[in-house]
This record gives sequence, structure tokens and C-alpha cells, in this order.
Amino acid sequence: MPAQVIPEIIFPGIQFLGKGTSSIPIKRLEGKVAIVTGGARGIGEATVRLFAIHGAKVIIADVEDSLGNSLANLLSPYVTYVHCDVTSEEDIEALINSTVSKYGKLDVLFNNAGILGDQSKHKSILDFDAEEFDRIMRVNVRGAALGMKHAARAMIHGRGGGGCIISTASVAGVMGGMGPHSYTASKHAIVGLTKNAACELGRHGIRVNCISPFGVATRMLVDAWRVNEGDGSGACVGEEEVEKMEEFVRGLANLKGETLRVKDIAEAALFLASDESRYISGHNLVVDGGVTTSKNCVGS
Ligand code: NAD
Repeated sequence: MPAQVIPEIIFPGIQFLGKGTSSIPIKRLEGKVAIVTGGARGIGEATVRLFAIHGAKVIIADVEDSLGNSLANLLSPYVTYVHCDVTSEEDIEALINSTVSKYGKLDVLFNNAGILGDQSKHKSILDFDAEEFDRIMRVNVRGAALGMKHAARAMIHGRGGGGCIISTASVAGVMGGMGPHSYTASKHAIVGLTKNAACELGRHGIRVNCISPFGVATRMLVDAWRVNEGDGSGACVGEEEVEKMEEFVRGLANLKGETLRVKDIAEAALFLASDESRYISGHNLVVDGGVTTSKNCVGS
């Protein structure tokens, strides 16, 4: 029997990528409806694009209306944009309700919207800024928890039940020394919330996971670097800055010879959103090239 026929026999009914490759279907999210918060740019944008390529109907939820609408127009009719500030329960409820009205169900929520906080503020705990802490927690934690609440309600009462909730945590949610205090606290909270929600929602067939990326040269990171360099211009992120940022991150990395990019995080989200991960829940998928397990890690 030719070698390439074997996978089709082992996994009947699955479309294959081609001769001698893997058992992964070509369109891994065919028929699924997915919301991506913070989907207008950066990691969220890359995930929107990848989810759409894989056959999902995608809703971008963000506060950057111009960026979000342009992306949705580019990828239309599979992708739409909804203005949603994740700190507002009203906005989140409206987002989930409009999605279910339009498509009849919700399969995937990617809680990805997040902020790092004001880098110009002192980083020492001795200068802890309670207002700044509240602002970060409102977006990064309250936003994700509200997303879980309304997505889980829709999934439990929806067609067929089940579903999948993913949140973006960070290597700063795994160990100390990786970011500002408030951001670090918020990302640890995401990991805890993920585990607790996974415990409760398993009985409804809902999987809850998070992803913890190492540094990726997005607007968030480039802006932080600019502030440290004394540039608060807020200008668009240029290619040169991205390259500089990537070089900086490569210098801190454990895994050499590779550069972590938004697509790598989108691939992790695709895996967790797809049926290939159908028995994975309560998991923190760390995408860091081994930084948080290395004795030579950034924080040590
Ligand atoms: P980014 O700044 O490019 O994207 C963040 C997106 O979230 C933007 O589109 C922004 O408009 C949106 N957003 C911010 N506040 C919002 C709100 N209140 N409501 C709705 N949308 C809001 O940054 P990114 O790097 O793509 O960040 C995405 C996620 O990845 C964040 O949760 C971040 O903490 C996390 N993360 C990033 C890195 C990194 O190195 N870039 C590393 C680890 C984790």
C-alpha cells in the first residue's frame, strides 16, 4: 500500500494537505463563527486573517474603528467589524448578541485585546500607581472575564452547545521580571481565570485556554520601546522600528535562529480554536521558544 494512503485510512473523512504531509484538514475552522477582540491590528489582526483563511466567519471587536473597518472591508464577506470597548459590559453583551443574531451561534471567542500601560511611569513598586493598575486590569482582566461570561452564556444556550474561549496572557503571566507590575499581575490573572473557567465550563463542552507569547514586534511593544527612547510621538510603526524591535527581542530569546512573529501566535490560536485541540482545556500554551523554562531567561 502506498505510504500516502495510510493517513486517509487511519482518519477517514478528513481532507489532507497532500502527499506525505499531515492529517490536518485544509480549512480547520470551516463553519465556525469566531470573535477576535483587539482584532484590528497586531496579534489580533494576524489571527483574524488566519481564521478567515481557515473558513471561519470572523468578527473583529476593537476600539480602532478605522483600522477595524479597513481590515473587514479587505477580507469581506467573511469578516465584519463591530466597535466594542472590552471594558464595557454593554458593548460586550451587544457584540455577542449581534453575532448570534447574524450567524445563529458563537463557536470561538478570542479575548485578545490588551494594553501594557503607560511606559513613561516609573516601573518600581515603590512608585506603584493605583489608577494605572485599575486601567490595565479593566482592559486585560475585566474585559476578558466579561467576554467569558457572555460568550459562555451564548455557547451554553446556543445551537449544539459547546465552544471554545481563548485569551491572550503573556510570558509575564508565567514568571516575574518580564514586564511592568500591573501588566504582570493582569496576565497572571488571565492564567488563573482560564483555569477556573475551564473547571466550570467543561460540563457544558466549552474549552477554555490561553496563550502566552514572548515579545512580538507589534505596536504595543514598539510604543513601549519608543517611550524608553524618549520618543512619545505616537507615529505609525515603521518597518525599520519593527526590525529594530525584532533584533532586540532576538537578543533576549532562548531559541536562536528564529524570530517570533504575530503569525506564530495566530497559529497557536488556530490550533486551540480548531477541533485538533478538542480535548485540551485549562491549558496555557506558552509560545516563547523556551524562555520561561531556561535558566538563562530574561528575568533571571
Ligand atoms: P497591539 O497594541 O498591536 O494590539 C492590541 C489591540 O487591542 C489593538 O487593536 C487595540 O485597539 C485593542 N484594544 C486595546 N484596548 C481595547 C479595548 N478597551 N477594547 C477593545 N480593544 C482594545 O498589541 P498586541 O501585541 O497585538 O497585543 C495583543 C495581545 O497580546 C494583548 O493582550 C497583549 O497583552 C498580548 N501580548 C503581546 C505581546 C507582545 O510582545 N506584543 C506579548 C505577550 C502578550
